[in-house]
Amino acid sequence: ILPVVAVVGRPNVGKSTLVNRIIGRREAVVQDVPGVTRDRVSYDAVWNGRQFVVVDTGGWASDAKGLAAQIAEQAELAIASADAVLFVVDATVGTLDEDEAVVEVLRRSRKPVVLAANKVDDQRTEMEAASMWNLGLGEPYAVSALHGRGSGDLLDALLAVL
Ligand code: GDP
Ligand code: MG
Repeated sequence: ILPVVAVVGRPNVGKSTLVNRIIGRREAVVQDVPGVTRDRVSYDAVWNGRQFVVVDTGGWASDAKGLAAQIAEQAELAIASADAVLFVVDATVGTLDEDEAVVEVLRRSRKPVVLAANKVDDQRTEMEAASMWNLGLGEPYAVSALHGRGSGDLLDALLAVL
């Protein structure tokens, strides 16, 4: 049975783009409009000869609850069946209430978490990524899911906790 990594975070931070980067294919649906990824989609991935399953999350279509509550709920469901969590934040935006809601869920889950500070497309944004230490989830791995920058180090860190 393969280890499972749940990719969580608020809409539009680049989860699906990062999933595509990890699996080396373009199967996860990337959208400029947040909230379109179907609920949870699993993909097989391999890094340094180790196989694992990566689960993309999203799809908070209903507006019965606040966005933060829906995101937290999605994260909770995905995390429950995962061995480790890849928490994605957008370094160019910083942390919002919706990110904090996920952090709460992560803390309670006690699952190993690797923090990806995404959209670090160039050196200039590295500082913003470093500010994500404030989340209290350990080292923020600066990555550009779009261009691949930093993704090797991120995957090394992920496999180290699997
Ligand atoms: P999700 O809602 O978290 O799954 O986010 P998506 O993967 O659908 O991406 C949302 C938007 O952010 C899309 O327009 C992506 O092209 C863009 N995006 C994702 N990763 C990066 C990145 O590393 N750099 C930049 N500049 N844009 C990104
Ligand atoms: Mg998505």
